[in-house]
This record gives sequence, structure tokens and C-alpha cells, in this order.
Amino acid sequence: MAAEIICVGTELLLGDILNTNAQFLAQQLADLGIPHYYQTVVGDNPERLKQVIAVASERSQILIFTGGLGPTPDDLTTETIAQFFGSSLEEKPEIIADITEKYARRGREMTPSNRKQALIPQGADILPNRLGTAPGMIWQPRPNLTIFTFPGVPLEMRQMWQDTAVPFLKSQGWGKEIIYSRHLKFWGIAESALAEKVYHLLNLSNPTVAPYASKGEVKLRVSAKAPSAQEADRLIQPVEAEIRQIAGLNYFGADEDSLASVVGQLLQEKGETLSVAESCTGGGLGSMLTSVAGSSAYFLGGVISYDNQVKISLLGVSPEVLTQLGAVSDLVAQQMAQGVRSRLNTTWGLSITGIAGPGGGTETKPVGLVYIGLAGPNNLVQSFEYRFNSLQDRALIRHVSACTALDRL
Ligand code: ATP
Ligand code: MG
Repeated sequence: MAAEIICVGTELLLGDILNTNAQFLAQQLADLGIPHYYQTVVGDNPERLKQVIAVASERSQILIFTGGLGPTPDDLTTETIAQFFGSSLEEKPEIIADITEKYARRGREMTPSNRKQALIPQGADILPNRLGTAPGMIWQPRPNLTIFTFPGVPLEMRQMWQDTAVPFLKSQGWGKEIIYSRHLKFWGIAESALAEKVYHLLNLSNPTVAPYASKGEVKLRVSAKAPSAQEADRLIQPVEAEIRQIAGLNYFGADEDSLASVVGQLLQEKGETLSVAESCTGGGLGSMLTSVAGSSAYFLGGVISYDNQVKISLLGVSPEVLTQLGAVSDLVAQQMAQGVRSRLNTTWGLSITGIAGPGGGTETKPVGLVYIGLAGPNNLVQSFEYRFNSLQDRALIRHVSACTALDRL
């Protein structure tokens, strides 16, 4: 038994809108523990839609359609489904009454084109739409095949799904086993390297472990199928513990945690404070830190010292060092960190100076060269060199630089 999602709409194929309906439905199916192996997007074209139905109805037992239920001529989903299964449409007076009433409430009259929305295949049941005019349907055109249709408008679709599909699917016995996931997060290790380290866990079946990565952060999703959250936790715990042990310091948090929130938590626990001095990230590090609610408890502020004069006047970076080594250098990173730490009187000073590109790189100092400076108690001053040249993107180099600084701290 499996469900399949079919989203109808040429605007999806053109890339005009993001397919958030498929994302929502996929999460819902996972929550209910309903297997789901295929999703299709198809334009407003009856022939191609029929081809999709032909394939989907052979391999899946629940077909969930969104889009194409409206009153306009390009809205063809219901009639195409009916045609495919050789059924005729019948007009439902209760839908006409409902649409008439909804129009009346807005002081308008129902248009003739709305009549089309009252047509559903014989034997199908109406899925009422509380928020809009287009109702959906639930229909069993043949044994072992259930069809749901929903309008494309995400708010309406979601409401109707909760109102009608969830109770129906639960009455069919779904939702007893639910899929629970933990998202473990890592920094400073490539997805492939982490996958290699946990290779033996990647073909477990309950829980399953799957790696994925975005913008330098690597995640492992550990998902367990279980009747309760507690039971899922019992399955996930030992696998999570093993992964954390293998990953060591590359592991930084789970689920809602971010590098900034974890750093903040540690500072708060120790009663320590932080200030930052940023060049190439232009405030990105401060922005990450302050995106965490309550960050004023440990983050005091920072200096965006983009220009050399500002590095000298506000942070006390030595003009000689700037001339001799250049702004993107280990010593300047150190002096920026020391400068902001002493001026703002914090436990830690953290700095970033680098070349985000696309211009400004040289042979000895290529785009992606970044120095992170750290100043702390007991005259601690350190700097770290990174070469993010493979990232090839200004925004990404800036983002990864700020994250790396937090990781370093
Ligand atoms: P309507 O009565 O509004 O015409 P409909 O059922 O015909 O509803 P569509 O015309 O296909 O639905 O889509 C209506 C709007 O809903 C689209 O313009 C789009 O903004 C949004 N939409 C449609 N499909 C999706 C989808 N898969 N994901 C996110 N948004 C969608
Ligand atoms: Mg439409």
C-alpha cells in the first residue's frame, strides 16, 4: 500500500511557484506512516494528466491530487480523472448551494463558470472547502484505489486535508505507527567524509540514517517508525549516541539548534560574553548571533571594520601590519579580535577578515582566503586560516566564514 502525490499546474512546471503542496503532503504522509514513493508534477493538459493517472493508478493505491479544481477552462483535474475511469460527471446541488451562499455573503452572484465546480464523478463524495469555493472529492473508482482531489491554493488544501483526509486515513488504520526524526547537525566535515565514517549505519532499517547537506552544514536524519514518540526515542537514542561519538567535535547540535544558538548556550552557561569584529562578512556574524532570542545576555556587540581606517581607529589594528601583510592576514585577524575584546570588555573577541570575491583575489591571496581571529582570557590570541575558494560564491563564502568563526569559538 502506498500513496502518490500528483500536483497539477503549468505554473509549477514553469518554475513560477514552489511546490509547497507536495512538501506539506509528503510530511503529512510521513507523519501518518503511509508509504510514499512517487510525486509527479504535470501541466494543465488532459492528455498528459491521463498518462500520469495511468502510471500512478498501477503502482499506488492512494492518489492525492492538488490543483486544477477552479472554475476556469484550464482547470481540468476532476473531469480528466472521471474520463480516465470512464465515469460521467454529475452536478451536486449541495455544491451549487454552498457556492451560491459563499458568493452571496460577499455580496456577489455566482458566475455560470462556477457551475463546473459542482460536477464530480458519480459515486464520489464531496470534500467541503471551508475557505474557498472549489470543493474536492474522495472517490474509489475501483476497489483498492482511493482518489483525493484538493484545490491548488495551499491554505485551502491544508485545511481540507486536516478536516477530511486525516480522519478518513486514520479510520483506515493509518497513523498508528508514526515516523519520528532527529536531525543531527555537523560543521567542519564534508557530507561524503561523514557518510564514510557512519557507513555501517546507512543501511539500517529502523531507524534509518540519511545524510544531507546545505550551505556547509551537514546533517544526518535519523528516522524511526514507532507507535509513540517514546518508543521512537528508544530506537533513535543508541544510534544517535554512536554517531555523536564517531563525529566528535564536528557534531554541534540537533533539530532546532544552530551554531549561533549552541555557542550562545555555552557562553550563557559559563557566564561569558562575546564581541565581534567583522570585515568581509559585514555584520553577518553579528546577525547570526542576534537571531537567537535572548542573545543580549552574552553578545555585547561588534564593529564592522570594512575599511582599513576603521580597523585602525576603532580596533587599534597596527597601520604597519596592515601595510606589510595586508588586511587579509593572520596578524590583522588577531589584532581585530584583541581590539574588539578590549574595547567592548568581553570574555571573547572573535574576528573575520577575508576575500569574499568575486573580484579582489590575487595569486597569493585568492578569493576564499579567510582568517578568523580569536582573543580570550589569559592573553589567548589565535588565528586560523581557511581557503574557501571551492565555494565560488560571494554569499556562500560570507555565510560559511561566519559559521566557521562560531564553530571555532
Ligand atoms: P482556483 O480555484 O484558485 O483556481 P485550483 O484548484 O484551480 O484553485 P490552481 O489554479 O491550480 O488551483 O492553483 C491556484 C493557486 O494555488 C496557484 O496560482 C498557486 O499560487 C497555488 N498553487 C497551486 N498548486 C500549488 C502547489 N503545488 N504548491 C503551492 N502552491 C500551489
Ligand atoms: Mg485554478
